[in-house]
Amino acid sequence: MSSLFKTYPYELEALEYDFNALEPYIDAKTVEIHHDRHQRNYVNSLNAVIEENPEYKDWTLDDFFRKEMQIPSDIRHIILRNAGGVYNHEEYFSHMTPDGQLSPEGELADAVEDFFGSVENLKAELKKAALDVFGSGYAYLVVTPQSWLQIITLSNQETPVQFNFKPLLIVDVWEHAYYLGYQNKRADYFDNWWNTVDWKKAEETYEEVNAKNKKFEFGF
Ligand code: MN
Repeated sequence: MSSLFKTYPYELEALEYDFNALEPYIDAKTVEIHHDRHQRNYVNSLNAVIEENPEYKDWTLDDFFRKEMQIPSDIRHIILRNAGGVYNHEEYFSHMTPDGQLSPEGELADAVEDFFGSVENLKAELKKAALDVFGSGYAYLVVTPQSWLQIITLSNQETPVQFNFKPLLIVDVWEHAYYLGYQNKRADYFDNWWNTVDWKKAEETYEEVNAKNKKFEFGF
């Protein structure tokens, strides 16, 4: 479950698998530190800044992302950084699985073929994007409100919600996501991460967006 529509106080979302479940692709120590320290820090820091600014206790993460310009500039970056850190990490961890498949099925498989030609091309383009992120950030495969597939890169803790996109695949390329296992070899991390992709989850998200568009198209 995502915290996107939850309000303060935020909680550290439990992983749906054990720390070592993604081995040999991502080692247990990396998953443990990433989840129990990095993600937890974002949760605690977000709660702390809201405690100091209680007028935001009724705001959801989605509100923070969509109404960020209503937040005074002196605290906006602190709230957005931590809200983004909570959201992006929940998406990252929940889109990986020990039972990864190497390619999508159904409607998403057709869309991947339409937009990228093949799963291999999608992988190559997403990898290029992941390697292109300068400094800290993410590469995402998203679905737009029109059911288009698009690869985006985000800096630091920006989120796709700010652009009205829904996440299908997420690769965290902050060094803390891979440095223990791969040191500076981000490309190797990407190739291994690819084996953990939860295509079932991506298929569900894609089909939900697509169903809404079909309804609209046929005027139901
Ligand atoms: Mn991270």
